[in-house]
Amino acid sequence: MIEIETDVLVVGAGGAGMYAGVAAAREGARVLLADKSMVGRGGATIMAQMTVAAALGEQGPDDWTRHLADTLEAGRGLVDERLAALLCEGAVERIRELDEWKVGWARDADGRMRQVTAPGHGAPRCVYVDFLNTGPAVAQCLRRQSARTPGITKASGLSVTDLVTNDGVIAGAVGFRLEDGAAVAVAARAVVLATGGLTRLYRRNSASANMTGEGYALALRAGAELIDMEFPQFFPIGHLAPRLVGMDPIMWDPFRYKLGGRLLNAAGEEFVHRYGGEDEGRYVTTRDVISYAITKEVEAGRATEGGGVYLSFEHLGEGELREAFGPVVDRLAANGIDLTRRPIEVSPIAHYHMGGVRVDAEMSTGVPGLYAAGEAVGGASGANRLSGNAIPEALVFGETAGRHAARSAGKAGRSAWSQEAARPHLGRLAANGGRREASGGRRTAGAAGSRPVAGAALGELRAELADLMWEDVGVLRTGAGLASALDRIRALRLRLEVTPVPGEGPYPLARQDWFDLRGGLMAAESIALAALRRTESRGAHQREDYPDTDPGQARSQRVRLDPDGRLACEWMPPCPSPG
Ligand SMILES: Cc1cc2nc3c(=O)[nH]c(=O)nc-3n(C[C@H](O)[C@H](O)[C@H](O)COP(=O)(O)OP(=O)(O)OC[C@H]3O[C@@H](n4cnc5c(N)ncnc54)[C@H](O)[C@@H]3O)c2cc1C
Repeated sequence: MIEIETDVLVVGAGGAGMYAGVAAAREGARVLLADKSMVGRGGATIMAQMTVAAALGEQGPDDWTRHLADTLEAGRGLVDERLAALLCEGAVERIRELDEWKVGWARDADGRMRQVTAPGHGAPRCVYVDFLNTGPAVAQCLRRQSARTPGITKASGLSVTDLVTNDGVIAGAVGFRLEDGAAVAVAARAVVLATGGLTRLYRRNSASANMTGEGYALALRAGAELIDMEFPQFFPIGHLAPRLVGMDPIMWDPFRYKLGGRLLNAAGEEFVHRYGGEDEGRYVTTRDVISYAITKEVEAGRATEGGGVYLSFEHLGEGELREAFGPVVDRLAANGIDLTRRPIEVSPIAHYHMGGVRVDAEMSTGVPGLYAAGEAVGGASGANRLSGNAIPEALVFGETAGRHAARSAGKAGRSAWSQEAARPHLGRLAANGGRREASGGRRTAGAAGSRPVAGAALGELRAELADLMWEDVGVLRTGAGLASALDRIRALRLRLEVTPVPGEGPYPLARQDWFDLRGGLMAAESIALAALRRTESRGAHQREDYPDTDPGQARSQRVRLDPDGRLACEWMPPCPSPG
């Protein structure tokens, strides 16, 4: 077993994790920056396309309080105003800091940063580097900065499977190294969870393989709470048809920023206005409304052949397309797509999670020494996130979490690490881990001994989960569907618990799948549970049996894990405002 000791362990190295690492190291802490993928190359940050919102006022008057007002309005009454204020005010400083670190924000000839208006923003507020490559540039800049900052040790390919607490205080984490399957124990005085989102739980998603929701379960098992779990965000215009190879399914977002484009049903009619939005060739309506509108059109039998709606740029000439998107037009042509001649088909895909770990304005989870940041955190977007707010959330919350985690580690003195506390978690990773039960160290009755489970069996569980999440916990929900989903998720959890943890060895991908599923199932159960209890429609949570918004439910719900292993969900008081 590999044993490591550090001041601050950062779990997950996307935008939030890397910024947390830099901020903690700037405070003088020794930092271990761990990622089950490659540091700075896994997760959503590197996939981000274009928009990064910050009220810089480079293209006209703007102010962070206006950004906050737009964020609150988009969140449909559920935004935690303290977190949103932190995000909107802090975004300005973080974007300027990345500028100093030479991220390369696009600029006009006169040197002002370019800012575009995204749906729901009342001003041109979103900076970008390049219209399809902003995420890679941000990730590269933060990789460079974390390499330059003394005190940061990077650990790519380290999958964290459990946080370790001792008497309720964070003590570190355990996991395994992908390269050789070796168990790893990290004693840490503070931990930052920056594990990103969960959209891979859904059949149609914009996620990479590692966005499985593990972080939410790590938090719950360590004693932290989750909020707003019923609000995964669906990106309305995910690519559906024709076949598109080598390009991202959410690439039509930048097209719409620049060129507008018309959303049409199979009969060629514009329809968003029927559902309370306005579109008419402009890109102004927020994601929750458009996702709902598209899903309802499909349900009403006005779907395209592929099962979505059309997005048309046919009114534009090739010259305009080339001027806006240059060589991208050739990449589309290689896919047989000529936007001047035919529309493409789009429909919603799971894209982001508004819910997540409950934190205060220092990003503390309430478990001493445990902090969270980025998409793993819930509350800043309420029931619906504005385009462009997620990257700033990762940067601002990452910086805040890292700074406070380092200070907490400094105050902690001795590490709370205890071999005794880590033992049950390490047991699952030991050489005979395959014979151990998921929820404890006992032998598993009736399980298939230590034989590794075929990846296919885990694949089947994952596919079943993705299907039921899409069908019953997706854009349109009903009480009956949610109740059935909850039962099936719980049954899947039981099936996984009696499935031995696949064995060790180099690149134990089946083992990784097992842990991903363990976390993902707990996250999925949290979503279904909270969605079933919310008997109204609000933002991304649309109940067909409760189509109206109920002012009495303008409150968040929190989820915790009880000692008996059951998830409990309860209403919280109305959202606190900073006063
Ligand atoms: C295709 C796409 C395009 C997007 N475009 C935009 C955009 O234009 N503007 C915008 O604002 N937002 C955009 N978003 C959303 C935004 O990118 C994310 O919300 C944000 O990057 C999240 O950053 P993060 O650091 O919290 O998480 P991530 O960048 O997802 O990083 C999380 C990391 O945690 C690691 N991890 C997870 N579990 C473990 C574990 N158990 N052990 C070790 N490591 C672990 C993962 O490997 C991953 O590297 C987009 C998202 C996607 C998917």
